[in-house]
Amino acid sequence: MRFSAWLIWAISWLVCSVLADAYTAPHTSDELGRALASLGVEIRGQLPVPQASCPAACALLSTVRKNIVSTSGSQTYAQQQGRYWSLQQLETLPACRVTPQIAIDVAITLLVTQFFQCPFAVKSGGHAAFAGASNIQGGITIDLSSLTQVEVSKDRTVTKVGAGNRWLDVYSKLDPLGLSVVGGRVADIGVGGLTLGGGVSFFSGRYGWALDGVKNYQLVLANGQIRDINQNSDPDLYFALRGGGNNFGIVTRFDMETFPQGLMWGGSTIHPPNTNVSICKAFENFANNASQNPDAALITAYAYSQGSYIFSNNYGYALPTPFPPAFNEFTSIPNITDTQRITTLSNLAVELNASNPGGFREHYTTATFKNSAALQLRILDIFIQEVETIKDAADILPALVMQPITIPTIRLFRKNGGNALGIAEADGPLILMNLAILWSSTADDDRIIAAAARVISRSQQVAREMGLGYRYIYQNYASLSQDVFRGYGEENRQRLLAISRKYDPDQVFRSLQPGYFKLDGVNGGSLS
Ligand SMILES: Cc1cc2nc3c(=O)[nH]c(=O)nc-3n(C[C@H](O)[C@H](O)[C@H](O)COP(=O)(O)OP(=O)(O)OC[C@H]3O[C@@H](n4cnc5c(N)ncnc54)[C@H](O)[C@@H]3O)c2cc1C
Repeated sequence: MRFSAWLIWAISWLVCSVLADAYTAPHTSDELGRALASLGVEIRGQLPVPQASCPAACALLSTVRKNIVSTSGSQTYAQQQGRYWSLQQLETLPACRVTPQIAIDVAITLLVTQFFQCPFAVKSGGHAAFAGASNIQGGITIDLSSLTQVEVSKDRTVTKVGAGNRWLDVYSKLDPLGLSVVGGRVADIGVGGLTLGGGVSFFSGRYGWALDGVKNYQLVLANGQIRDINQNSDPDLYFALRGGGNNFGIVTRFDMETFPQGLMWGGSTIHPPNTNVSICKAFENFANNASQNPDAALITAYAYSQGSYIFSNNYGYALPTPFPPAFNEFTSIPNITDTQRITTLSNLAVELNASNPGGFREHYTTATFKNSAALQLRILDIFIQEVETIKDAADILPALVMQPITIPTIRLFRKNGGNALGIAEADGPLILMNLAILWSSTADDDRIIAAAARVISRSQQVAREMGLGYRYIYQNYASLSQDVFRGYGEENRQRLLAISRKYDPDQVFRSLQPGYFKLDGVNGGSLS
């Protein structure tokens, strides 16, 4: 090796080792004692020897932090277990649940879980569908539901949003102030999961996805450090948090770009099945013409309910303009019901919540395609063929939900140094497809999940044949077996892996937090 090359190698090795050391978590009793002391918990001398035990971790946590730990049999534990959307998550039983009141509680919990090698999961709104995504059998579930701050800056440009909020909590504080942030469209969804994976919003045409609007993250790293992460402080980690899911740390607060927002236009129409051709065409045109309508957002769904197929369109328009021209083509399609009106964002979020009931078995899966009405019609046929094979399942409600990812939105993915999703303007407009199925009996799990997988693989096959396939897999709609991060493109995935090794050298968020989507594609959880 030439001397200069050797020198560069030696310097980079040194920098990497120093950085890795800076982020290494405590391993021994002494190190844990010192780390806890730096967080204000002085229990040096009383710490047990390191051992792999979740009950021991729960016991230590309830000693050092009163009232944040609950175990099976307590009212708090039962209440919190009841606040998952899917039955699969609700039936997952952790050794204890920890409910941090402040970021320091999260840091302490993270250190203790490592000391006792106790696997953990993190929950914000609990709307990820599969078991183990935000709850963990026999481990520790860190339930962020008490982190409910919603605080607008004096200049009204940033809102500090605690990671345990649900979107309705945020909107009901901001609506009366004439302000908003880019967030979810359904009242009960958590701020945490939605924002770390993406965040399709009514306002995405103007401001991008929710992750594009986060100015600063308060993040707890694996070594217990509580840090503000933004474009100036740590541009690499800031990039990774915009799409990296639960792989980089636990976010305790999102500081979100805030904008003026008054009343808006929105609601849903329901259409008979013979409108399929017109709806697919109107969708294609809407997506293609999006640059003329940055205030308009659309969700189209094809569903099977109680013996018949129905189609629906949900509209959001950021201004209080009745029947905005953006939706003209849909207005001329015959409908059975129509709830469009001038209203608040909170009100629209509550309306959509009603059509997404919790307490059932749930399956989400996804694919992305180039925009085409012809393809959408072919996919609809596949959906109907597969639903016919499972429609006898009790309480079944399968819905094929299509949303455009428009060019104006993709352009906004470049904001603040760019997000991690790997979608380029030249790739758009795209169709984001989400197949969502609800049912009630465990006995039907396997055949329903298999039918859903066939819808995805057959649709992708048809898309490839038509030259309309696309690699992106939306984390927030993905099924356990889908390789989300490969869908970001290999360059972005490698970049995320390197950032994860820098800030989490022991790979705590990989090995001790097995659930949900992992950068190496070995995801954790269970569909049934
Ligand atoms: C009815 C319904 C409506 C939806 N509507 C929309 C929508 O309008 N737009 C959209 O884009 N998506 C939507 N989604 C998808 C939604 O974004 C995902 O389900 C998302 O994961 C939900 O976030 P959560 O916080 O409720 O979930 P959780 O299950 O609590 O979390 C999901 C994952 O994120 C991790 N996580 C959560 N918070 C943190 C944190 N603070 N730090 C580190 N990791 C964290 C969890 O560990 C878990 O792995 C919807 C889903 C449902 C079921």
